[in-house]
Amino acid sequence: MLNEKMAALGNNRSTIRELFEYGNKRAAVVGRENVLDFSLGNPNVPAPDAVREAILAEAAGDPVALHGYTSAQGAADVRKALVADINRRFGTDYTGDSLYLTAGAAAALSCAFKAIACPGDEFVVLAPYFPEYLMFIESGAGAKAVVVPPSIADFQINFDALEKVLNEHTKAVVINSPNNPSGAVYSEQTIRQLAELLREKEAQFGHPIYLVSDEPYREIVYDGVQTPFVPTYYDDTIVCYSYSKSLSLPGERIGYVLVPPQAADSADLYAAVCGAGRALGYVCAPSMFQRVAARCTGLTSDITVYQTNRDLLFDGLTSMGYTCVKPQGAFYMFPQTLEPDDHAFCERAKKYDLLVVPGADFGAPGHMRISYCVQTETIRRALPLFEKLAKEYHKC
Ligand code: PLP
Repeated sequence: MLNEKMAALGNNRSTIRELFEYGNKRAAVVGRENVLDFSLGNPNVPAPDAVREAILAEAAGDPVALHGYTSAQGAADVRKALVADINRRFGTDYTGDSLYLTAGAAAALSCAFKAIACPGDEFVVLAPYFPEYLMFIESGAGAKAVVVPPSIADFQINFDALEKVLNEHTKAVVINSPNNPSGAVYSEQTIRQLAELLREKEAQFGHPIYLVSDEPYREIVYDGVQTPFVPTYYDDTIVCYSYSKSLSLPGERIGYVLVPPQAADSADLYAAVCGAGRALGYVCAPSMFQRVAARCTGLTSDITVYQTNRDLLFDGLTSMGYTCVKPQGAFYMFPQTLEPDDHAFCERAKKYDLLVVPGADFGAPGHMRISYCVQTETIRRALPLFEKLAKEYHKC
């Protein structure tokens, strides 16, 4: 007898993965260059040279230490180096004991959720959201995910709707800024308002409400926009971070959970994150890439390519009549579809070999996600096709 829920999860690929596989099949028929695949958030900009140099330097060292286990929470010297960088950038005074290194943000989120989830707890997720949150919360941590509808006009937080769902069962609110899929970056005003609301609700319900801040795109921002560092505004924050996007290392699986000492019950909370890592089999993040991350603090891939892509795509689509909030970060755009049924729209786009993901998958129907971490040439080739698609609707 199997766990049928898990078998169902394994058998039902996400729409994004389905599209990606479909794109591979189409590429075999029409040629890779003719499939304009905007489905996956796989960085197309290479990791900085410093990553390669760090790998070579590590590979030249002691091979036993290189490939050996580290402490369950990550090597002490690595945690110290990563925390020093956080302290330098955000004016904090954390120690390495605040960090738990993980296999990317997915493991960081899974550990954070499991660390705090008790039977009957609710985790609030703000649409549009990264779809895997629902999986991690419900199937991973055994809690209930409660979705708050989006603020369509700007993709900041829909505070009226959020306030309505907060109750005595709320254990955490999950935020993601810069956001996948909208590209919105929560302003300082938004974070302040959120912190105020949560403090008020903590006082009302008499227990901590954690703010899980998922930040794999923290450094990918444009036009001088800053990503507010959430623990500065709200003590009961747990930060989940990853080098997948900032250093273009998604396949290497390296990231961390940060439990600031100001968070409620922080020592127990950190212990619970370690315990969750143990229960989920996530002890000892990939050891070579722990060290590579420590050697590359403060660096990012060349994000100017994403900005070029954003500008080209945004200007092109809006001039054709698509409605879109201008992304300020990450490498996703989330325009409205030209018919309310986003699945139907995305199917129609497929006729042009344009692969975009329906917004319903992110809790925001009537939109499409376009991942623009692609060659700029792909966007140039896609724009006339987006225009043809728009004309089909204008004819109706
Ligand atoms: N959170 C968000 C918002 C993401 O977009 C992703 C990946 O695309 C993840 C978490 C998972 O990141 P990782 O590859 O580091 O596990």
